[in-house]
Amino acid sequence: MPRLAIATRNAHKVDEIWAILAPLLPHVHREDVASALDLDAPSPVEDGVTFEANALIKARALAASSGLPALADDSGIAVDVLGGSPGVFSALWSGAHGDDAANLRVLLGQIADVPDEHRGAAFVCAAALVTPDGREYVEVGRMEGRVVREARGEGGFGYDPIFIAEGQTVTNGELDPDAKNAISHRGAAFRAMAPHVAAVLT
Ligand code: IMP
Repeated sequence: MPRLAIATRNAHKVDEIWAILAPLLPHVHREDVASALDLDAPSPVEDGVTFEANALIKARALAASSGLPALADDSGIAVDVLGGSPGVFSALWSGAHGDDAANLRVLLGQIADVPDEHRGAAFVCAAALVTPDGREYVEVGRMEGRVVREARGEGGFGYDPIFIAEGQTVTNGELDPDAKNAISHRGAAFRAMAPHVAAVLT
């Protein structure tokens, strides 16, 4: 029987979140964790305008439908010269939800004339944990960096090929998954969340 639900239908994302949490939660096992897909949970409308609001919408909905403590995240890229956009609209910036190549092309076009020293950006992730009895926790992680001019690397997803994190010389698309998790917004948010998960599962 699962003890913890994760609000994603993407098996890759469950693995990624589990890879971050597992070393911090020695008393929780992979088979204790079920995804929204495993649980056949309905998808709520994500109509929040902040990462925190959308993460809470997803975690509340899954806690209610599954009766389990539920973890969710919401994330995106915030570009300085665009005032923090695409932000919560990162996945559909080109108008086509989830078309990573088109989204990245639109963003590169919008800032084509912006010089290198003004191309600062951050990936942001809000993680939310909600229990069926109404306890709620939110943690936010950021990965600062800059947007380059051409996509490089086959790894990662979304805007990874056009982002170089602070302290790195290669794009996120050129990093291996462990190296990315060690510095990523999602890694930071879920590592901060791990003690809350441990507390609600005891
Ligand atoms: P979601 O929170 O997983 O739905 O991600 C929203 C969107 O933000 C994705 O479709 C990507 O475009 C972008 N995004 C979020 N996290 C990352 C990341 O780690 N790398 C690249 N793109 C990301």
